[in-house]
Amino acid sequence: MRWKRWSLLGLLIAAACATVPYTNRSQLIMVSKADEVALGADAYREVLTKESITRDPAFVNPVREVGERIARVADRPDYKWEFNVIQKDVANAFALPGGKVAVYTGLFPIAKDTAGLAAVLGHEVGHALARHGAERLSQGILVDVASAGAHVLLGNQSPAMQQVTMAALGLGVQVGYVLPFSRSQESEADHIGLILMAKAGYDPQAALALWQRFERAEKDRPPEFLSTHPNPDTRQEDIRGWLPEARQQLTSNLAAVKPLPAVR
Ligand SMILES: [Zn+2]
Repeated sequence: MRWKRWSLLGLLIAAACATVPYTNRSQLIMVSKADEVALGADAYREVLTKESITRDPAFVNPVREVGERIARVADRPDYKWEFNVIQKDVANAFALPGGKVAVYTGLFPIAKDTAGLAAVLGHEVGHALARHGAERLSQGILVDVASAGAHVLLGNQSPAMQQVTMAALGLGVQVGYVLPFSRSQESEADHIGLILMAKAGYDPQAALALWQRFERAEKDRPPEFLSTHPNPDTRQEDIRGWLPEARQQLTSNLAAVKPLPAVR
């Protein structure tokens, strides 16, 4: 009966191996897609109840317009996309598993226009598509950083485990527990984001301009978004390298580029 045990083990390992869309990187994932989506929805509700959501259409409309274009090409029919704007002077945005997205008003001056916003949302949706949160949770379970890791899988989370989960999903800043995405995940989100924005009808060149504005903004205030991100020079160089591939995906159905409102 020994062979049976081994084949069971093989089955488990096969089930835990996933492939990232577009980059085809193999990754170890020990959280089911359904659990991941449920965790994303929970974390989203928690953030939205704590933060102040703006209903001002000047901010909400461009985020929904760009977001929905990106959501369409992200091709995840199992996701229920939601786009909200949080009133807070933080230059950040996030996308959680299940298609739960938010942009902070502090990001608007840096995003500048809807093409810049598409670069940001493409990057964030890239994290969600590549299942980076689930990957980090899985690594945590493996190395036993999260000794209560099994609770995540059982959906029975202790407050400490909730913090680890939030951090793994990329919401570390909000819960005051910083566990940044790895540089390779950031780079992968940049790569996927470029392709998504092009497919959605935005010139991927706008991503390069966005990260240059981020780099300048970082000099004027404490970095909250870039701090966990790759070296700006490396990032811009990588983006230049991916631009030809992304441009091939540029749809003929181009989106109109509109300026974003000034933050009041
Ligand atoms: Zn990121």
